[in-house]
Amino acid sequence: MPRQWYNITADMPNKPLPPLHPGTKQPIGPEDLAAIFPMELIKQEVASERYIDIPEEVRSLYLSFRPSPLFRAVNLEKALGTKSKIYYKYEGGNYSGSHKANTAIPQAYYNKMEGVRRITTETGAGQWGSAMSYACHHFGIELLVFMVKVSYNQKPGRKLLMNTYNAKVIPSPSTMTSAGRAVLEKDPDSPGSLGIAISEAVEVAIQDPYTKYALGSVLNHVVLHQTIIGQEAMLQFDKTGDYPDVVIGCFGGGSNFAGITFPFLREKLVNGKNTRFVAVEPSSCPKLTKGKFMYDFGDSAGMTPLLPMYTLGHNYMPDKIHAGGLRYHGAGAIVSQLLKDGFIEAKAKMQRECFEAAVLFARNEGILPAPESSYAIAGALDEARRADLEGVSKTILFNLSGHGHFDISAYEKYFENNLPDHELTKAEVEEALSHIDIPI
Ligand SMILES: *Cc1c(COP(=O)(O)O)cnc(C)c1O
Repeated sequence: MPRQWYNITADMPNKPLPPLHPGTKQPIGPEDLAAIFPMELIKQEVASERYIDIPEEVRSLYLSFRPSPLFRAVNLEKALGTKSKIYYKYEGGNYSGSHKANTAIPQAYYNKMEGVRRITTETGAGQWGSAMSYACHHFGIELLVFMVKVSYNQKPGRKLLMNTYNAKVIPSPSTMTSAGRAVLEKDPDSPGSLGIAISEAVEVAIQDPYTKYALGSVLNHVVLHQTIIGQEAMLQFDKTGDYPDVVIGCFGGGSNFAGITFPFLREKLVNGKNTRFVAVEPSSCPKLTKGKFMYDFGDSAGMTPLLPMYTLGHNYMPDKIHAGGLRYHGAGAIVSQLLKDGFIEAKAKMQRECFEAAVLFARNEGILPAPESSYAIAGALDEARRADLEGVSKTILFNLSGHGHFDISAYEKYFENNLPDHELTKAEVEEALSHIDIPI
């Protein structure tokens, strides 16, 4: 298992633009973030060194489930009749069932080291909340989770898992915060969104000096922690004698995509390797393919710093697709800059095609994918089919970001032919963006 995380900003030709203060619109300093994050994570957020050591206590907990396996999907390849090789890195084999544990553990650890007693956070589908629940309990920190209401209702098992790990879970929007009450006043039946849940969690954190906030995606330090995935995959690929022509990840805020791709992208930036990188997002929440690159808030109420990102607008309420972890209006600053500079590609897909790919995968590889991960599988199938049409053989790597054991009712809907497809049009995106007023 690698001993360091990889910070890609050290190798980027154009560094990501700085976050701005929501009031002054000036670049923020570390002290502006100190109310909600521990200093060590703030330092990682702006770090310029290429590699950052993984602390020993984090490493030893990682070792209970890492290295995660890299599999060659031989049975899937046979079923497709493809000439290509398909590999996947499986991040669902830990206590949280997803890659989120890779950042939950260091985030809880750094908070513990700085004397934090309670953490607030949001969760969409529940994977991040589960990941934080166990990590916080391990390090003796209380956890309060605002869970997007539609997921809270769709996935009671996730809530109970968080309770089992000793966390308190509240459906969002809630009446506990002014951000939540404002949403409920306008729409008492609001299904919630990650943006709203973030506002609630941040609001609670800034009111108490012993409470800090944690985010499961988007931010630079989260992306940094996830690079353990790609670092391991590179070492594992060394043993196979293969090297990927294309690396694929599903895309919510960008953390698992960045995690698997950045170490390989370094080989492209520094050593001229010719690998392609494809992010796959839902057609109903297409920030990368239809959003605009601009400064926007990370949350709905506009309490977070302004980040330079591809966005649908912080007020955008994504359709209730089953891949709850992909229902986020924006994208991380680093990934956004890399997309803008043409180092990575993005595509959008409808959920039925992705469930079809997930079922094909489950029947051949024996792992039930998280609905989020099914977007990466569908992306990998596209690559294999295209290579076959072109008469070539490619080596394809995708990240299987999590398992779908808590999402079985979404599979039921797919089998009943009861999964609507939804695509956001360019006009709807422009409509959504016209409501946000950020004078930059
Ligand atoms: C949270 C989550 C995602 C989406 O988040 P990213 O930050 O884009 O990785 C994808 N897959 C699973 C299983 C998740 O839990």
